[in-house]
Amino acid sequence: MKVGFIGLGVMGGPMALNILKGGHELTVFDRSPEAIARLVKAGAKSAATPREVGAASDIVVTMLPEPQHVEQVVLGPDGVAEGLRKGGIVIEMSTIDPQTSRRVGDVLRERGMELVDSPVGKTSEHAATGTLTLMVGGNKPAIDAATPVLKCMGTDTFYCGGPGTGHAMKITNNLLATTIMVANTEALAIGIKSGLTLELMQEVMRTTMGWNQQLAVAMPKKAFLGDDSPGFAVRLACKDVRLACDLAKNLGFDALVGRGAQKTMEQAIEQGLGERDTATLMFIREKQLGIEVRQKAAEQRKAA
Ligand code: NAD
Repeated sequence: MKVGFIGLGVMGGPMALNILKGGHELTVFDRSPEAIARLVKAGAKSAATPREVGAASDIVVTMLPEPQHVEQVVLGPDGVAEGLRKGGIVIEMSTIDPQTSRRVGDVLRERGMELVDSPVGKTSEHAATGTLTLMVGGNKPAIDAATPVLKCMGTDTFYCGGPGTGHAMKITNNLLATTIMVANTEALAIGIKSGLTLELMQEVMRTTMGWNQQLAVAMPKKAFLGDDSPGFAVRLACKDVRLACDLAKNLGFDALVGRGAQKTMEQAIEQGLGERDTATLMFIREKQLGIEVRQKAAEQRKAA
């Protein structure tokens, strides 16, 4: 299949590589020449514009930061829609709001093309191993046609419903995952400052309703090791929660917990930490209170 890929960042780069490994012909574009060069070295062709990617492809994948980037790259001047043939498909995999997803999809359908939404869950490690969670929405024939490409990138595939439902699922999930993570940083900071150890809190919380995947899996790999090197950027986590809060507002209510998490992350961005991994939110609390929330055993493992 002739596949195009636009947005070759932390997630999109390895996802595009897996499409190449799947035996598809790949044409790529990114606004970063370095990102394009990495894919060209692996065997992809480069294009000068999203329109050129569309013209060279049956299916174009987009993996971009925010809704406005998707709108511009797909529907803007020199966009994918200007090059893609009738019957061509855009697989939109960024984390964007369902309204933008539906609006872009509707315009494509008016022009005889299709949009499948398939935002992804998990991390850049899973992007590299082709084991992402895929939350798929759209019309069935288009989803069927897109499936061979989707299979190169993910293993856990969930069909969420019609157009936009994949993006609704992703935003809902990230609102929950991020607010839990921010709540963890508050609770752990309070505990340590009050004289508890991280090990004791983990032991107790493991038996209560306070236990969660962020505490069990994500934080021991980064925050508790003192590592906030780029992974899932605060800038992107904040964007996801903002989109969820805006969606809640459109639906007629104020997502108060979400807005608290959003404000916490906006403060981190104001301090210049937008590109750091979300683990940095724990370190902000540490600095505020003069404490350290670190796993002794994990520190020993890292040192060994
Ligand atoms: P990133 O910032 O690393 O990559 C985005 C890429 O898009 C960059 O290479 C950038 O140069 C390119 N780009 C931006 N605007 C462009 C434009 N107008 N034209 C062409 N290229 C453009 O972001 P990422 O971490 O790869 O995330 C991509 C999307 O996936 C985001 O919506 C994010 O929320 C979501 N996501 C990220 C993760 C994660 O762990 N990083 C996990 C799941 C979902």
